[in-house]
Amino acid sequence: MDFTISDTMKAVLELVNEFVDKELIPMEHEFRNKDFRDLLPELAKKREMVKKMELWGPNIPKELGGMGLDLMDHALVSEALGRSPLGHYVFGCQAPDAGNIEILHLHGTEEQKKEYLSPLARGEIRSCFAMTEVDMPGSNPVMLETTAVKDGDYYVINGHKWYTTAADGAKFAICMAVTNPEAPQYLQASMIIVPTDTPGFNLVRNIPVMGHAGSDYFSHGEILFQNCRVPKKNLLGQEGQGFVIAQERLGPGRIHHCMRWLGICSRAFDMMCRRANERKITPDGKTLASRQIVQQWVADSAAEIQAARLMTLYAAWCMETVGHKEARDDVSMIKYVVANTMQRVVDRALQVHGGLGMTDDTVLAFFYRHERAARIYDGADEVHKAALATRILKRYRDGAK
Ligand SMILES: Cc1cc2nc3c(=O)[nH]c(=O)nc-3n(C[C@H](O)[C@H](O)[C@H](O)COP(=O)(O)OP(=O)(O)OC[C@H]3O[C@@H](n4cnc5c(N)ncnc54)[C@H](O)[C@@H]3O)c2cc1C
Repeated sequence: MDFTISDTMKAVLELVNEFVDKELIPMEHEFRNKDFRDLLPELAKKREMVKKMELWGPNIPKELGGMGLDLMDHALVSEALGRSPLGHYVFGCQAPDAGNIEILHLHGTEEQKKEYLSPLARGEIRSCFAMTEVDMPGSNPVMLETTAVKDGDYYVINGHKWYTTAADGAKFAICMAVTNPEAPQYLQASMIIVPTDTPGFNLVRNIPVMGHAGSDYFSHGEILFQNCRVPKKNLLGQEGQGFVIAQERLGPGRIHHCMRWLGICSRAFDMMCRRANERKITPDGKTLASRQIVQQWVADSAAEIQAARLMTLYAAWCMETVGHKEARDDVSMIKYVVANTMQRVVDRALQVHGGLGMTDDTVLAFFYRHERAARIYDGADEVHKAALATRILKRYRDGAK
């Protein structure tokens, strides 16, 4: 594989990095200390600047007003944006909207595209994705309790979801519900578009996560669907194809997440090195950088980030060249390798900052709190490891290895 970055992409990355440094990082103190909703007017201005620079929606198809980058190039942009918690939101490629745009683009009817996809791609509305349930194991999502029962021209949805990221303020949810209980388990569920102002769509609360309930885009909702009636035309794709579509959504989504986490690694690493060089720890002016343990953290982090980055770019390349199914071992590997690399690097950077690292005066404590979830969502570490090992061992049993 070829790691050369095209001249166009070099120019794009320079612009993106400069924007993150000059426009977003200076806003972060306010972001950490204010309600996210209060920041929306300022963030809307930043989004307009991004659109004027023609950098909006790196992963959004050109016909929908985005840059239409392929997976590899978007991965590089995602890394640059990941350096700030505001990056993806301001450039219009934030989860879960990015994944929802993808599936609406692939499976939406013309009417759904007009009503939901176009304004979503333009950043005029937001969306959320409601699959995980309070009482059922998200790690085995075929075990869903939420049902969508046909009644004339409507589906009537009942169920209890949570961790519906960014439900607060979203215009619509894509809800995963059982429509075909008699079918084989993998073909029982469908995706249904539910406008959040539909009676029976109840946002119970924004769940406090590591001490913060957040608001608007930066929140995770608990949702009760109570006799929530939506027209049958809101079905996304075919009935019973919910899990098939969800798999399509998760593959590229994991590459985006991993590259975002590598952006976090790069920011934390940068902060760790700067602090190590600046912080004097003896009267004769020796700094933390003079200590072997800190040097070891720096060396280990540099090597681990490099390894995780190469694995992720390789997985993206495999996905583009040989396809999603063939790349699934690589995608499973990066999911837990990068999440754990990020956790270690952020932890070391925080340790080097001492008491300062624990405060909200730097971004490190935010990363520490919020990004712990990386080892849980989109498949917990253990689930990916078990799936990968099962496939490898089967290949050995089948004599392929
Ligand atoms: C910050 C955050 C954002 C999220 N956003 C969304 C969203 O927008 N939409 C949505 O639908 N969901 C979302 N989720 C939910 C997420 O997908 C689930 O939390 C995840 O799938 C795990 O499901 P669970 O929480 O039910 O854990 P469980 O399935 O109960 O698993 C608990 C633990 O058991 C272990 N485990 C489970 N299965 C196995 C196994 N086979 N082998 C070994 N160990 C195992 C793992 O350690 C796992 O962490 C989000 C979660 C978080 C934390």
